Amino acid sequence: MRIDPATNLQPAGAPPPRNDISEALARRLRAETEGEVLFDAASRGRYATDASIYQIMPVGVLVPKTARDIATAIDIARDLKVPVLPRGGGTSQCGQTTGAALVIDNTKHLRQLLAVDVARRTATVEPGLVLDHLNAQLKPHGLWFPVDVSTSAQATLGGMAGNNSCGSRSIAYGNMVHNVLGASAWLSDGSLVDFGPIATLSARAAGIAEHVRALAVQHRAEIAARWPKVMRRVAGYNLDIFDNQSEKPYTSDGSVNLAHLLIGAEGTLAYTRSLTLRLSELPRAKVLGVVNFPTFRAAMEAAQHLVTLGPTAVELVDRTMIELSLLNPAFRTTVATALIGRPAAILLVEFSGADKAALLTKLKALVELMGDLGLPDSVVEMVDDAAQKNLWDVRKAGLNIMMSLKGDGKPVSFIEDCAVPLASLADYTDALTEVFARHGTRGTWYAHASVGTLHVRPILDMRVGGPTGGAAKMRAIAEEASALVRRYKGAFSGEHGDGLCRGEWIAWQFGPAIDEAFRSIKQQLDPIGLFNPGKIIDPPKMDDASLFRFAPPTAPRPYKRIPLTPWLDWSAWNVQADPVTEATTAPGTGGDVTGGFAMAVEMCNNNGHCRKFDAGTMCPSYRVTRDEQHLTRGRANTLRLAVSGQLGPDAFTGDAMHETMDLCVGCKGCKRDCPTGVDMARMKIEFLGHYKARHGHTLKDQLVARLPAYARVASRLPWLMNLRDTLPGAAWLSEKLLGFSARRALPTWRSDTFWRSPQTRTFVTREQAIAAAQHDGKAAVLFVDTFNGTFERENAFAAARVLQAAGYAVHTVTKAGGHHCCGRTYLASGMVDAAKARAGALLDALLPLAQAGVAIVGLEPSCLLTLRDETLVMGLGDKAVVVSKQAMMFEEFIAREAQAGRFKVSLKAAGKPILLHGHCHQKAFDAVRPILEVLKLIPDTPTELIESSCCGMAGSFGYEASHHEVSMQMAEASLLPAVRARPDTIIVADGTSCRHQIADGAQRDAVHVARLLESLLIA
Ligand SMILES: Cc1cc2nc3c(=O)[nH]c(=O)nc-3n(C[C@H](O)[C@H](O)[C@H](O)COP(=O)(O)OP(=O)(O)OC[C@H]3O[C@@H](n4cnc5c(N)ncnc54)[C@H](O)[C@@H]3O)c2cc1C
Ligand code: SF4
Ligand code: SF4
Repeated sequence: MRIDPATNLQPAGAPPPRNDISEALARRLRAETEGEVLFDAASRGRYATDASIYQIMPVGVLVPKTARDIATAIDIARDLKVPVLPRGGGTSQCGQTTGAALVIDNTKHLRQLLAVDVARRTATVEPGLVLDHLNAQLKPHGLWFPVDVSTSAQATLGGMAGNNSCGSRSIAYGNMVHNVLGASAWLSDGSLVDFGPIATLSARAAGIAEHVRALAVQHRAEIAARWPKVMRRVAGYNLDIFDNQSEKPYTSDGSVNLAHLLIGAEGTLAYTRSLTLRLSELPRAKVLGVVNFPTFRAAMEAAQHLVTLGPTAVELVDRTMIELSLLNPAFRTTVATALIGRPAAILLVEFSGADKAALLTKLKALVELMGDLGLPDSVVEMVDDAAQKNLWDVRKAGLNIMMSLKGDGKPVSFIEDCAVPLASLADYTDALTEVFARHGTRGTWYAHASVGTLHVRPILDMRVGGPTGGAAKMRAIAEEASALVRRYKGAFSGEHGDGLCRGEWIAWQFGPAIDEAFRSIKQQLDPIGLFNPGKIIDPPKMDDASLFRFAPPTAPRPYKRIPLTPWLDWSAWNVQADPVTEATTAPGTGGDVTGGFAMAVEMCNNNGHCRKFDAGTMCPSYRVTRDEQHLTRGRANTLRLAVSGQLGPDAFTGDAMHETMDLCVGCKGCKRDCPTGVDMARMKIEFLGHYKARHGHTLKDQLVARLPAYARVASRLPWLMNLRDTLPGAAWLSEKLLGFSARRALPTWRSDTFWRSPQTRTFVTREQAIAAAQHDGKAAVLFVDTFNGTFERENAFAAARVLQAAGYAVHTVTKAGGHHCCGRTYLASGMVDAAKARAGALLDALLPLAQAGVAIVGLEPSCLLTLRDETLVMGLGDKAVVVSKQAMMFEEFIAREAQAGRFKVSLKAAGKPILLHGHCHQKAFDAVRPILEVLKLIPDTPTELIESSCCGMAGSFGYEASHHEVSMQMAEASLLPAVRARPDTIIVADGTSCRHQIADGAQRDAVHVARLLESLLIA
């Protein structure tokens, strides 16, 4: 590593600047910018990683509010000699977005689409704009930006330009460099320079262009000899803008565009303020041919011929992924429709254009070509759009399944985007497979066969040091892979950039002369080395363990978990996996001193998918704050740093950790949507258990948690309990003393609870329920939770009447001196032991019924679904498993029974359309679909599902004064506007808190699906 003596600016991994410098930096940023200045350890830790294996603590973080903030920050950093690292979604796989620098996060405020010129098909964007968000705005114009990276929901245009990103359809549209028309960027001297076509350049930019041109001329012979001649080459700087070497020239007319010099520069040359992009027409039609191959090699050999047909994508799915998808019930049917027998690999060959009929000719040509190649009848033709989309979803999910491997060994990305010419693809993949085998590992292959860039990640354990450790294996495999890349005249870095992982291979790829030319380019644009030092120029070794996120014991800063006795059972994560078979050891044998909790936390690989805003739940607190802290990834990173002692002693139960977990509403959106299955709702329970054990419970905690315990007595004195909302000033007092928001009315107490009602006499005894179940299966036990039972007993009786009308024997479990509860309110307050006692008693009551096969039917999603989730990890033994198998939501039960032909009632039309809001836990357990199925039983009544995230109430969350504002913002994000827009509808919402939020925010009464069905029964 070189340190520039003139500037003292240091490369990646160098020690951070002195404390007084970072303090001065923070002070000046606070004084001179409007941005958020984050210099505390936890905030810096959240910006220390990207989706690579590396971790470097930044000096500090700035979240700028305006472009002017960035310009000011660059000036201050230059004065204080602190490097600057621009950041988008932080999803890079090679470590280019980590550094001991001032990290500037563009994603919160610098995300505008500045201009669209529909006629000329161009758009100008700020760097923090996310690709999917851009394309959503372009769609009405029939346009899109076609560099369709897999991370399109979270990758920013600035980061994509920084990496020269490439999408699945690059064979048709090219990489970023082919689609950028101009850039406006700050140089390290603070000047803002426009980069664009040579003819349009200012004097400063023209000087840069001339410098690069001279280098290209000087090194012409070396460039011709050493430069990979493939489209997928993203290493180094684009010195070839003056001497094109790419299969696909950067401009259509052969002209030079200086903006292309910044593409793939990984933020090392300039800080992009805006980008002008070339847009494409949105394809109006697509067809897919799925080619089935008997051997993997046959697929690899075919790729070179398939591309001659002009497809927009040729994507590989290998046998391992096919098998994994077939094992997944959600994908089995879709995959099966694409298969002919049991192929060793499939290639998804997509054609797109303006007219479907014309594309059918292409499909026909594909079928003929495969016949010519000796594989007749090997193509499944998919013309239907929905079928195609389903199959693409499987292809994406396959990657997710692979990434969710438990244990310390993980699929590591370091040679996963080498690009080789298609004629050599089969030989290259064969040879690399042998390399893996020699090193005791294996790779699953997938992705971009069209351009010779197949993704493959060998499983390595980076925590193991020495000659058999992950780092040593990574180097050995990289060395051998590089020899293959050279043999087949490919590019070592073909998609994900150089960063820390491939920087050292730049000189290997291009030779010393071109490497020096790159240094000269850096010197020309950033002579003081301000921008992202240690990337591209003077990079560290890829296996420098001091830069690893999980550093081995031999490293200066080894990764160590601090022993901890977890409240919940995390043993399913406490395993190790075989790197070849991927078989995992028995739960609890992974050697984790935190019982598996740390290993569960470490599953987050920073891919940033939790930053998405599309349909689905994850992550409501991020959606309203856009803060890395209030994001699933931010929480997982903070937990990881805390449980490994990197945030100081006792950080796990400290204030910074509490602040980070505070806005997590426990919606379980991440449990469903995170590709690696990070379940932050469960982690929050674990955290709260430890936090409260150290700090104690507040009176508010006690009132919330123990509601099921005091509800029976309290409901005898409803007038007293309701004083809080009837006596002037009482609500205000409850906010001041207890923290309940005065802007909320609490649920209204009443004495005629479910359990006191004579109507329960219509219920059968346990023995009768079991007898009925054994007779014709038509029995159910209604689990009535505290909320429905105490405040809305009508819902429980409605459910019972609907079931009884269909001929079911309905039983309910009772308890002397109170009622049974699932323990959820205790869990939400961190009282895990009390929750366990409550849940254990409920399980005991339900067990004989579950054993006899009686369905356990619940009304409140968060309560009933506790029986399928948390009770399984509370150390309650087999009874929890037995009960979980019978536990289902009211609508899940009806949908199941209706499908079996057993549930039959006569219903009349509702008279109005239905608008359905799914509770987050229903979404997490795929229990919204059954409500839609049940609502279809209502004649002549259309139903529309609101595409909403969390309602924001989330149990007691929204009732708390400190959360009121965020809670309302969550509701306003989609739910409340959708409700207000349709005053003519019946709103169905099964969650008690969802109904309250809808009433508070939109002054509309939402009903439980049971109430709606009951009201429509024809006697
Ligand atoms: C699961 C997974 C799948 C992926 N699939 C693909 C894929 O299909 N194709 C692909 O190409 N990549 C892929 N990637 C890699 C990565 O997601 C992309 O490269 C993505 O475009 C990076 O965007 P970002 O906003 O996260 O950038 P970041 O990681 O934040 O930044 C990337 C680089 O750009 C620089 N940068 C950011 N903003 C600026 C700015 N304003 N000025 C100057 N420099 C800036 C940064 O300093 C950094 O060096 C994948 C990654 C993961 C984890
Ligand atoms: S929490 Fe999940 S979705 Fe978010 S970055 Fe981590 S692994 Fe990705
Ligand atoms: S549980 Fe919900 S709020 Fe919490 S991190 Fe997951 S998605 Fe975000």
